[in-house]
Amino acid sequence: MSRYLAADLQKLAAYVPGEQPQDKRYIKLNTNENPYYPSERAVNAVTETEVKNLRLYSDPDSKKLIAAIAENFGLSEKNVVVGNGSDEILAFSFRAFGQNGACFPDVTYGFYKVFADMFGVEKEILPLTAEFKINASDYFHKDKLVVIANPNAQTGIVLPLSQIEKIVENNRNGVVLVDEAYVDFGGESAAELTKKHENLVVVQTFSKSRSLAGARVGFAVASEALIDDLNRVRNSFNPYNVNRLSALVACEAMKDKSYFQDSVKKVVAVREFVKQELEKRGFFVLGSCANFLMAKSDKIGGEELYLALKESGVLVRHFKDERIKDFVRVSIGTKEDMEFFLQKTDEILRRRS
Ligand SMILES: *Cc1c(COP(=O)(O)O)cnc(C)c1O
Repeated sequence: MSRYLAADLQKLAAYVPGEQPQDKRYIKLNTNENPYYPSERAVNAVTETEVKNLRLYSDPDSKKLIAAIAENFGLSEKNVVVGNGSDEILAFSFRAFGQNGACFPDVTYGFYKVFADMFGVEKEILPLTAEFKINASDYFHKDKLVVIANPNAQTGIVLPLSQIEKIVENNRNGVVLVDEAYVDFGGESAAELTKKHENLVVVQTFSKSRSLAGARVGFAVASEALIDDLNRVRNSFNPYNVNRLSALVACEAMKDKSYFQDSVKKVVAVREFVKQELEKRGFFVLGSCANFLMAKSDKIGGEELYLALKESGVLVRHFKDERIKDFVRVSIGTKEDMEFFLQKTDEILRRRS
């Protein structure tokens, strides 16, 4: 750290992403990437001509991509904004709507507190229940930015749409942001509710259910006024925030609905298979509607299992946070990946007994 760094940033603990090791090949079950390739339509969109066109700036209004997203949700193009990953949309939202502070659960996506610190937004952290659930009424009358991942990050647990709507109705003086990074794997989207509620922002990403984590494309849908606000921030930061190739690829991925539905279906089926298999082995597994499972064993600690699996060539995620330190988070890979993971888990448990 240099002595030139802004004083508030000297204290900031930056977000630590899951490992992306380049040293050897792992079965990678640690960052909730999709094990399947993106849609063939998306892959074929990147032609030599399009690469040559990189000499030109991208469309600052991302018109084609926004049209495809709007069509998918039955919304107007004025109700959509796109970002360089949904992380960027989240950052814009903290900057735009965090004036009176922000509140979110204790166990959730770790980036929320970093955005709050980065933008000087006061944070209020509300504990999940003992069953790792969100109690909706905890978020009533906060009159600040309320941020809820649904399904929640790290747990995969869904908050019913009726509860989301109650939170929105009971926070008319604040924006409610619902981060739906995992919604396609079993949640119910609040996108439709943005037609009724002027204080609701729904954020989604192409990274998980559409297999485009490396393309960095996310989006928000909301009332026209909130989208205007987010565009004010976006245009004050980076008007060309989505690059030409990523916009092209994401647009085709959004249009290829049958491929999307098939790959989501496969991930969900494998998730349910793995949950059963872990339970047969005595694991406690949270009921997940996402593309990962949170599982803990009474035979081995979370960190120990993470390290032993890594040694065996399987990368899962372990969080040191007190409430979830006994768990490992396992992203859902292909059936073959998951059978390998289960086999290695068996070997590790056998060695200890
Ligand atoms: C993965 C994830 C994101 C980030 O997605 P990108 O679009 O890749 O930036 C945001 N929120 C949650 C809860 C996530 O799990």
